[in-house]
Amino acid sequence: MANTTSDITQYDVVVIGGGPAGLQATLTLARVHRRVLMLDSGHYRNDPARHMHNVVTHDGTPPAEFRAAAQKDIAAYDTATVRAATATAVVPDGDGFRVSIGDEDVTARGVVLATGVRDTLPDKPGLAELFGDVVAHCPFCHGHEFAGKPVAVIGDAAHLVGLMGPVASSVTMIEEAAVDRVERSDLGARVIRTDGTGQEYGGIFVAPTFEQSAPFAEQLGLTMLESGCVEVDVMGRTSRPGVHAAGDLAHTAELPKPMSSVLTAAAAGQVAAAAMVAYLL
Ligand SMILES: Cc1cc2nc3c(=O)[nH]c(=O)nc-3n(C[C@H](O)[C@H](O)[C@H](O)COP(=O)(O)OP(=O)(O)OC[C@H]3O[C@@H](n4cnc5c(N)ncnc54)[C@H](O)[C@@H]3O)c2cc1C
Repeated sequence: MANTTSDITQYDVVVIGGGPAGLQATLTLARVHRRVLMLDSGHYRNDPARHMHNVVTHDGTPPAEFRAAAQKDIAAYDTATVRAATATAVVPDGDGFRVSIGDEDVTARGVVLATGVRDTLPDKPGLAELFGDVVAHCPFCHGHEFAGKPVAVIGDAAHLVGLMGPVASSVTMIEEAAVDRVERSDLGARVIRTDGTGQEYGGIFVAPTFEQSAPFAEQLGLTMLESGCVEVDVMGRTSRPGVHAAGDLAHTAELPKPMSSVLTAAAAGQVAAAAMVAYLL
């Protein structure tokens, strides 16, 4: 049976996503006593990584510890509710939005999308198992850990050669088609080529592709960018009034893709939330 209006819990804002973008957006809204619900389905982009790096005051902190500390911060504010739950639909409803969580609906005047993206690695045996450890994609997050060791870059990511030059003892480009599989080795990882030869490296870089984790941008008909991300302005506003977006799923048209990091996601969450307060006023 459909929910009647009186059954439905109403919020000022629903934040969908509990990574750094959603957590900071929720904290910002809670600090000015907006009724905010944060939904977190529990799948984070940096799930494969044991430690976060390049996060000032948290260099080397496990991502789960960072999220737990953020949730503890949020818990100090009475108007914020955090739920481990998956949003299934977001639709316009009157002068706001209706967010479905399975059979349950909630309404809000504004929605902050912070649902992130999902990575797809090159289809080579061994890569997925070692991703976030001796296989990496971003030298700012994971690169210093291979210092002084030979590093391989698999696929079309020539910029990584220059980036890792001062860190690694050598950087070798390997065509993806020449790679059969990757396996852990004493030094880090061994690349086995299709001709049967193998070479050990301290670390391997790949360039994953990514896509939206959640269907809400599509459901709401938001303007998208060539990268597959939601277009936002500098305040995190999407093409639909009342829907803001922050974190890896969105960027401004000036950038070719998101500046994916914990701190940029959190900063974007703060901006999108502050702009949401202005929108609500
Ligand atoms: C292997 C790896 C290692 C990394 N290491 C670092 C690092 O060391 N330092 C660094 O700065 N950056 C690192 N990054 C990048 C960093 O993880 C991301 O830039 C950052 O997590 C983006 O934050 P976000 O909040 O946009 O998304 P995420 O952290 O991915 O969070 C997305 C949130 O949305 C939720 N969600 C999705 N769909 C739904 C739904 N339908 N309903 C409810 N919730 C939903 C998820 O459960 C999650 O809570 C790394 C990335 C990878 C892949």
